[in-house]
Amino acid sequence: CFCQVTGTLDDCACDVETIDRFNNKEIFPKLQKLLSSDYFRFYKVNLNNPCPFWTDHSQCGLKYCAVKPCTLVMLLDVDYFPPQYSEAASQDIEECEKAEKLGAVNGSLSDETRQALQEWKKHDDESDRFCMLDDEDSPKSQYVDLLLNPERFTGYKGPEAWRIWNSIYEENCFKPYSVKRPLNPLASNSGLCVEKRAFFRLISGLHASINIHLSARYLLDENWFEMKWGHNVSEFQLRFDKELTEGEGPKRLRNLYFLYLIELRALAKILPYFERPAFHLYTGQHTQDNENKKLLLELLHVAKSFPLHFDETALFAGNNKEAMKLKEDFKLTFKNISRIMDCVECFKCRLWGKLQTQGLGSALKILFSERQIDAMPNTSNTNPSFQLSRQEIVSLFNAFGRISTSVRELENFRSLLSNLKQ
Ligand code: FAD
Repeated sequence: CFCQVTGTLDDCACDVETIDRFNNKEIFPKLQKLLSSDYFRFYKVNLNNPCPFWTDHSQCGLKYCAVKPCTLVMLLDVDYFPPQYSEAASQDIEECEKAEKLGAVNGSLSDETRQALQEWKKHDDESDRFCMLDDEDSPKSQYVDLLLNPERFTGYKGPEAWRIWNSIYEENCFKPYSVKRPLNPLASNSGLCVEKRAFFRLISGLHASINIHLSARYLLDENWFEMKWGHNVSEFQLRFDKELTEGEGPKRLRNLYFLYLIELRALAKILPYFERPAFHLYTGQHTQDNENKKLLLELLHVAKSFPLHFDETALFAGNNKEAMKLKEDFKLTFKNISRIMDCVECFKCRLWGKLQTQGLGSALKILFSERQIDAMPNTSNTNPSFQLSRQEIVSLFNAFGRISTSVRELENFRSLLSNLKQ
């Protein structure tokens, strides 16, 4: 049901168990290991882009919304911290020094490889992007250590958060939708074609994943010295329980699985790109880089082995004008959503919102570049027919890491809920 997008885009929950088992046992542990490596944990992002859509944009003062960019930590000396924190602080500083080195990644490469990278950049197929990428060369872009800044409860809510979701659903989701009066775009009488309904499901799946994370890493208690983060079952129920959400909660969870399958499919398809000998997960630490590449290929082979892959060929089927126009609309709308992320006041939410939309954008770029990927083995190593930038690669895997973690968290919530009932 999930796995095949047909004309009716069935939303029945046929095989959630298969996905759960596959994710929790095969994908999740490998992915977590990969994402803790230097290549994937440092993400270059510009969190200071102005909001392009409205000007009455306030700064978020919530302390849990702050992002710890590496440069800030590095400005401080270990002695600045009270003794009980100095060990953690010196670790932070060490990690950030590594990130800075990554910043010099082009500087430490041989001339030949640097030229190759320039060449790759030139051939990066802008027109095929589904997402606005930040200018990596802008002085405003910084490396952020994702492990230092986990996605979790921040307290960002109310009219500001609603304005973002509203503008995504109402103006950028192909559907008449208001967060106050949610309609059901999956209903076959919604008048939406299969692509537009698929689009809605992706965004709704992303929204569900964010809300699962904030329920799973909720601020349970805090005092002067420490904060206690953990599962908040009532928060989860409020958002996903069938009765408490007028039946919407379970549909939103199914949209999460739908998003999972789309991103998994993209990983399975992109295997030839990463298998090329010329591809390196370059951080300058040769042995580690090789091990990471091995782990990445293992993960992609597992992704490819999944028996119930989503079939994207039903989307934008045909080469006629209408299908091309639809694909263009799809791309433009998705790009708009990635720009809306610059309007999110809470920096931590903006960071993960940007990363996840970029990651999904990369997945869509892969899914709809079949011809270029198929041509890959026949093209030269330095100028392959399909390219991904480092930012696209890091966001693709980290975004999938978020969705995979959400699927894993659902199992935790299920067992917490069944313990409560006993
Ligand atoms: P909201 O989640 O704000 O939802 C608004 C309305 O949208 C709901 O009433 C419902 O009608 C509809 N809706 C809800 N879920 C779905 C769905 N899955 N599919 C379709 N419709 C839906 N908060 C954090 O604590 N940590 C974060 O990291 C974080 N990141 C965020 C990132 C972004 C980009 C945005 C916009 C918000 C983020 N938030 C984060 C805020 C969080 O998503 C909620 O907006 C906030 O907790 C308020 O929740 P709410 O119950 O008012 O409903």
